[in-house]
Amino acid sequence: MSAAGQEGAHPPAIRRAAVIGAGVMGAGIAAQIANAGTPVLLLDIVPGAAARAVQTMLKADPAPFMHRAAAKRVQPGDLDADFAKLAECDWIVEAIVERPDLKRALYGRLEGVRKAGSIVSSNTSTIPLRDLTAGLPDRFAADFLITHFFNPPRYMRLLELVAGPATRPDAVAAIRDFADRALGKTVVECRDTPGFIANRIGTLWLQSAINHAVDLRLTIEEADAVVGRPMGIPKTGVFGLIDLVGLDLMPHVANSLLATLPEGDAYRALHREHGTITGLIAAGRTGRKSGKGGFYTRA
Ligand code: NAD
Repeated sequence: MSAAGQEGAHPPAIRRAAVIGAGVMGAGIAAQIANAGTPVLLLDIVPGAAARAVQTMLKADPAPFMHRAAAKRVQPGDLDADFAKLAECDWIVEAIVERPDLKRALYGRLEGVRKAGSIVSSNTSTIPLRDLTAGLPDRFAADFLITHFFNPPRYMRLLELVAGPATRPDAVAAIRDFADRALGKTVVECRDTPGFIANRIGTLWLQSAINHAVDLRLTIEEADAVVGRPMGIPKTGVFGLIDLVGLDLMPHVANSLLATLPEGDAYRALHREHGTITGLIAAGRTGRKSGKGGFYTRA
């Protein structure tokens, strides 16, 4: 039982959830919620994408992404056609592309449909909470927080939770309780600082590994063999990890950090644009999700 439960305080229950954005993260988050026994609506702006994501999860191997019995709890849909269904949800997780303008536009639209007191959270990697709520009504800021899941959500226990000054404490308690009790996450509350905790640190070693690989003219395989184990990622290495995350996310993360980090921060000194990532993105090789691979040619 969570601490909140022991104290007898009852945060609002999450009986029905929604995830918007059925990509690498959104589909995995929806599967986790369904596995925990809660019905979840999974919507994407690309027609048919959410339904395809559910099929892909059912075929995933090893250890099913989603238990077969849980599949019936995921209701895939198209954002525009099924937008009104969001009115039934107690918690709406936004997991769309890492762009504050698009996220804010979606939140503004949500204000016309979501029920009073429903909670909205963003899976942003690096965008400050204050940028996400800028220009939105006070009632939105009261119901909003960041829930930063890690990739892949089914294996990664950590969940970073960021609340703003206006976030209702019982909204934070409800998500903390659900994440802990139903999703089995280790919840760490972070302040609204650039990259929160994990990406503030993680981007330093990712950038450092990329710089060294370029400077030492290492192949991707050599670099991953050298830096994977010391950095605690022996299975994929650094470049394999970027393939898993999605190369297209990397410039968004870098831009967001460069816009918000204080002068003199170590990442500013390390950051270099080598052209390799932008070249691969331009060729459509955005990582495993692209079907064309990324740094590695295997998808
Ligand atoms: P992705 O590119 O794999 O998926 C994004 C999905 O959102 C796509 O299916 C796209 O069609 C859909 N989409 C785009 N705009 C939309 C809109 N306006 N409305 C509805 N759907 C829309 O991206 P991802 O890697 O899953 O990242 C999603 C979020 O999660 C980002 O904020 C990212 O920073 C964050 N995140 C990513 C990772 C990772 O490892 N990839 C880890 C933690 C957090």
